Amino acid sequence: MTGIYIHIPFCAQRCTYCDFYFVTTATSHAPFVEALCAEIRLRASAYASRDPVGTIYIGGGTPSLLHPEDLGRIIATLNDTFDCTHVQETTIEVNPEDVTPTYLAALRGLGIDRLSIGIQSFFEDDLRFMNRIHDAKQARSVVTSARDAGFDNVSIDLIFGLPEQPPEYWSANLEIAGSLDVPHISTYGLTIEDGTPLKNKVQRGLVEAVPEEDMSDQFRFTIDYLRERGYEHYEISSFAKPGHRAVHNHRYWSHANYLGFGPSAHSFWWGALPASRWANIRNLRRYQALLTQHVAPVDEKEHVSIDALADEYIMLRLRTADGLDLEELESRYGVDLLTDRVDELADLETSGFIQPIRNHTVRLTDLGKTVCDSVTARLLPG
Ligand code: SF4
Repeated sequence: MTGIYIHIPFCAQRCTYCDFYFVTTATSHAPFVEALCAEIRLRASAYASRDPVGTIYIGGGTPSLLHPEDLGRIIATLNDTFDCTHVQETTIEVNPEDVTPTYLAALRGLGIDRLSIGIQSFFEDDLRFMNRIHDAKQARSVVTSARDAGFDNVSIDLIFGLPEQPPEYWSANLEIAGSLDVPHISTYGLTIEDGTPLKNKVQRGLVEAVPEEDMSDQFRFTIDYLRERGYEHYEISSFAKPGHRAVHNHRYWSHANYLGFGPSAHSFWWGALPASRWANIRNLRRYQALLTQHVAPVDEKEHVSIDALADEYIMLRLRTADGLDLEELESRYGVDLLTDRVDELADLETSGFIQPIRNHTVRLTDLGKTVCDSVTARLLPG
């Protein structure tokens, strides 16, 4: 099954920490929707017959800036060109300031059954620091509005490690999310990315980044807090009540095929030496211009070697609670970690970073989750 990702490259204003591709100047969405549908049709001619669609994820940018008619046109184009009869989950990212009961009802009418809401914080000063548009009141009411509109499958994003954030805010954010009974929470430690307004402020000494140790403490606190309240920590950044794991993201973590449409979207496909990946150009005008000429808007394409795929698979699987299945690693990628990394595995277990291996599967401990990247680096075969 294929996962489909649609990138909607519009935002009303720039959040200080964000390095995603978007524009804030669009006066009309029509040329983009036209181009996006053209890209879907172009790719469908090569890929639609090979694998049915399992999940659809509409992200961005801010997809909720699109009118439901535009979203309907995109979904109709997917249905016309790909086999979408087996779709298990259709998600859209929305921002709290955009969603009215009418808008939510329209999304339901389009067959969208999961919302990912960019709340980030329930506190006014945090939201101002991040230059979010919505206010604390909207952050608190949007989950109820979503539920009233019939969305049972709701995820919210929250960010920890904000400079100058009072220490009690993070636990309060988690408490509010819990009291709203949100079934899925994605938590992200703030990263200071190059080229962002936040990075600029840090470089000018106006803002001080939160020390690594404090970030780790907040992450450990999050794991314990949410676990005690019935959330399963099923991936480093993802917590779900039973039955609410994200199906689409599971495709990424399982190395399944996915196709990305829209500027800057990425794709991955098995079947060519042994797999290939490509990224679309990060320029809306050029993206639209190429598609008016029926040219694929690809910036970079690479064939991925089996060794690189093995490295990536180890990295992806260690992030998950299901863990890294060593037998699968050997049969799919030809890597025998039990032989090649026997000493490292023993040392990681003794040091408390991985659990004792059961059913040929390596899983991180809570301590290991705080240093996931360095544990991964120690197990990479290269
Ligand atoms: S709304 Fe989302 S994509 Fe847009 S600037 Fe903010 S974080 Fe980035």
